Amino acid sequence: MSMNNQGRPTTAQNVGTSFQPFESFSGHQGLRLAEPLIFELDRADTTGVDVPEVDDFEMAIGGLARKTSIGCPGLPEPDAVRHYTRLSRLNYGIDMGVFPLGSCTMKHNPRLNEKMARLPGFGDIHPLQPISTVQGALALMGELSHWLMTITNMPAVALSPKAGAHGELCGVMAIRAAHEARGDGRKTILCPESAHGTNPATAAFCGYDVKSIPAKSNGRVDIDALKAALNETVAAVMITNPNTCGLFETEVKEIADAIHAAGAYFYCDGANFNAIMGKACPGDLGVDAMHFNLHKTFSTPHGGGGPGSGPVVFSDALKDFAPMPYVVKENDGSLNLKEWKADSADTSLGRLTAFHGQMGMYVRALTYMLSHGGDGLKQASEDAVLNANYIKASLMDVMSLSYEGPCMHEALFDDRFLKDTGVTTLDFAKAMIDEGYHPMTMYFPLVVHGAMLIEPTETESKFNLDQFIRSMRGLASTAKAGETERFEGAPYYAPRKRLDETQAARQPVLRYSNNQEA
Ligand SMILES: *Cc1c(COP(=O)(O)O)cnc(C)c1O
Repeated sequence: MSMNNQGRPTTAQNVGTSFQPFESFSGHQGLRLAEPLIFELDRADTTGVDVPEVDDFEMAIGGLARKTSIGCPGLPEPDAVRHYTRLSRLNYGIDMGVFPLGSCTMKHNPRLNEKMARLPGFGDIHPLQPISTVQGALALMGELSHWLMTITNMPAVALSPKAGAHGELCGVMAIRAAHEARGDGRKTILCPESAHGTNPATAAFCGYDVKSIPAKSNGRVDIDALKAALNETVAAVMITNPNTCGLFETEVKEIADAIHAAGAYFYCDGANFNAIMGKACPGDLGVDAMHFNLHKTFSTPHGGGGPGSGPVVFSDALKDFAPMPYVVKENDGSLNLKEWKADSADTSLGRLTAFHGQMGMYVRALTYMLSHGGDGLKQASEDAVLNANYIKASLMDVMSLSYEGPCMHEALFDDRFLKDTGVTTLDFAKAMIDEGYHPMTMYFPLVVHGAMLIEPTETESKFNLDQFIRSMRGLASTAKAGETERFEGAPYYAPRKRLDETQAARQPVLRYSNNQEA
């Protein structure tokens, strides 16, 4: 084995394909330790807290004392710490490696954001504190609102929605309120086929019928089909731009004009704003309402359902229907939160959340904006688009690209290159786990077969991208060469192998039971 001058091996140790891992005596695999549930680690005779025995005393709560154990696991403190530390090592995140999950925009989260969010004046305040003691927090919300309106060229913003989907709900509720204020009972919302599932779900949740608009062969909305579907029953059209195929809707202005001519509103799903920050303004494209996913575009660790923040910007036509609360400046110069309908334009749709929204994310998003500046945000967009096009160009000869031409911040492939190999998109994704990568988004969008949507983080270096590309090319040629073993049982190296994901989603077992029967 060759060594470098520090005595470190210079070539990777290859264990060879004939190596069969043995079962260890401990159940652990090397330094990756097997981890049971914390309840399975429970030892009835121990606890992390030592409370001295009390002398006999008389209970003051009558007959209400518990008769059975509360069921908390008993663990000494070091074991409790180890349990959570070991679990955290099973996690894969953007701080661990390349995370090319399309449509999700997994951004690097600058440590400066975390530092700011933990400042006691932001981190330790409570929503029920007197307004006079949280003036700094309100100023931050006001400044964030200002920059969100500036970067979109829109006249109003509602900060409180707590995720992209919640922002959609906010926008569509405002649209419904605007129609109702005119006594217009429109019943339909149009969504392109490629829409994220939350778009039709939001429309249906607000009581609308959803009609699907097909895509053209170039991956954009079929504008003729859209125009044909527009009439006086259509309340709104929800369009994602850049869309979920990773393409800019080049006819967006014509689409906006057609929507407005029909008396409907243009809702833009802004989840992909990361690709156009500082480049294109929804306000210039005829958008009436658009949510941001602050957690996608302006950083904040996200995944596993939270945390999220989905502020919505509004056009002049909708701004009077925006929800509360919002920050206002009083005559004496102090800041206040307008929280009650009686205080506001009485057309406001009311409140969507308790209190004011996700303060920690406001701090992170504003920190991200201010530390980048206008030029830096623009460059982040450019780098996102450059990285995605680099991946696209480096893989298009071995994988099947769904649409010709340059992409925005994500590259869409489909499973045509796997035809007759016996390998599916799912198998391919699982094999990526063995390569040390979180899989790309798969089977979404629905407009192509076996979709693979790859979105590289804009901060990813060329070195990292090249390594990722090598793995993807290797997997693609292995599949085409008929070496399907690598895929059939993948992931071989993950702590858990193929799970029954359908059953896990449909019949989740969320309750631990000692007798294992529930
Ligand atoms: C992520 C995403 C959403 C939903 O956002 P959440 O914050 O997860 O609720 C909606 N549309 C698109 C295109 C997305 O990528």
